[in-house]
Amino acid sequence: MEIRYNEKLKKLPPYLFIEIDRKKKEAIERGEDIISLGVGDPDLPTPEHIIKSMQKSVTNPANHQYPFGTGLLSYRKAVAEWYKRRFSVNLNVDEVCALIGSKEGIGHIHLGFINPGDVVLIPEPGYPVYNTGTIFTEGIPYFMPLLKKNSFLPDLDIIPADVLKKAKLLFINYPNNPTAAVATKEFYIRLIEFAKKNNIIVASDVAYSEIYYGENEKPLSFLEFSGAKEVGVEFHSLSKTYNMTGWRIGWVCGNKNIIAGIAKVKDNYDSGVFQAVQEAAITALTSSQQCVEDVRKIYKERRDILVEGLKNLGWEVDLPKASFYIWAKVPKGYTSSQIVSKLLDEASIVCTPGNGMGKSGEGYIRFALTVNVPRIKESVERISKIKW
Ligand SMILES: *Cc1c(COP(=O)(O)O)cnc(C)c1O
Repeated sequence: MEIRYNEKLKKLPPYLFIEIDRKKKEAIERGEDIISLGVGDPDLPTPEHIIKSMQKSVTNPANHQYPFGTGLLSYRKAVAEWYKRRFSVNLNVDEVCALIGSKEGIGHIHLGFINPGDVVLIPEPGYPVYNTGTIFTEGIPYFMPLLKKNSFLPDLDIIPADVLKKAKLLFINYPNNPTAAVATKEFYIRLIEFAKKNNIIVASDVAYSEIYYGENEKPLSFLEFSGAKEVGVEFHSLSKTYNMTGWRIGWVCGNKNIIAGIAKVKDNYDSGVFQAVQEAAITALTSSQQCVEDVRKIYKERRDILVEGLKNLGWEVDLPKASFYIWAKVPKGYTSSQIVSKLLDEASIVCTPGNGMGKSGEGYIRFALTVNVPRIKESVERISKIKW
C-alpha cells in the first residue's frame, strides 16, 4: 500500500535542528572531531538536588497514575510564587497550566484559537514551532521580520490593516532565539495597546528569561505591564534554566480564559505531565537558585571568549545581554549557508544558518554556547585557520 501523508505534513519544512543533527552525525561517522554549536540544548547536567527529588518522587505509587488536568495544585502554586518573586506578578492557580515542555503548549495553542484562514503573526527568524502550529490549523502565517535596525523587535506599525483584521494570535520571544535580543519596557507597553486595539492574543515565549548576564539587565516578563493579562499568556520552560530539556516540563500562565482554551485542547490530546517530574520541578523552582547563578556564570565565560575571539578575527558580533546564543554577521561576500558549510568542512564546527529560521536571518549564523571553555577556545582557533 502507498502511504500518503496529509497536505499539512507535506507543507512543513524539514525540522531544522533534526537536519543539523543529521549532518553532525554524518561528520562524526566520518571520524571528524566535531564541535557542535548548532542545537540549543544545554550540555550541563540537571542539578543534583532536582535529580534527588525526582528519585524520591518516582517511587511514590500515587505518581504512577494519569496526572490529568492543568497540573498539580502544588506545582501551579510553586509557579505562582516563583513568578511573584521573579517578576512581582500575581497569578492565581487557575492562571497557570503545566506543559510537557513549553514546545508542547506553543505548538498546541493554535488549536484553541485558530480557525482556517485566521492570521497568526510570527516573528522571523524565529522558533519554528510558531509556524508549525499555524500550518496544522490551516491558519495563515504573517511573518514579522526582526531586523537589526529595529533592535530585532517587530515593527507593529507596518502590519497592513487587512492582515490585522484577520489576525488572532501573535508570538513574541524575548530573550530572543536566535538573535539574542531582549525586549524593552516600551515595546511591551506598545504591544499590549496594539493587542487590545486589534483583538489579538499575545503568546510570549520566555524560555530564556533566566539566562541573562547582568544583575541590572534581568529580562522582563510581558505580564509585568498593565493590561497584559487581558490580552495574553506567557510560556515558560524549565529546560534552559535548570538544564532539563530531556525532562519535558514547562508551563503557560496569564489570562485564565486563554489558559482554559489551552487546557481543553490538552485534555483531548495528552493526560498531563508525569507527577514525579512536576514534583522535581517544584523542587527546582522553590529551592536555592544558586544553580541558576552558576549556569549564568558558565555561559558568560563562554560568551566572552567566543565574542572576543570572533571580533579579533574581524567578525561583526554584538555581545548578547541574554540567551545562550551568539548571532554573528557572516563575513562579507558569503551567504549564511555558505558559511555554515565552510565551518563544517574546514573547521568541523556545526552552527545554524540564520536563514534556516526565517529569511531575515540571511546574512547571519547562530552559535549556541553549549560546549565547554576549552572547546570554545578550540573553535576560535579553528576559525582563525580558515582560508578566505
Ligand atoms: C528551547 C526553546 C523552547 C522550549 O523548550 P521546551 O524544552 O519545549 O520547554 C521554547 N522556545 C524557544 C524559543 C526555545 O528556544
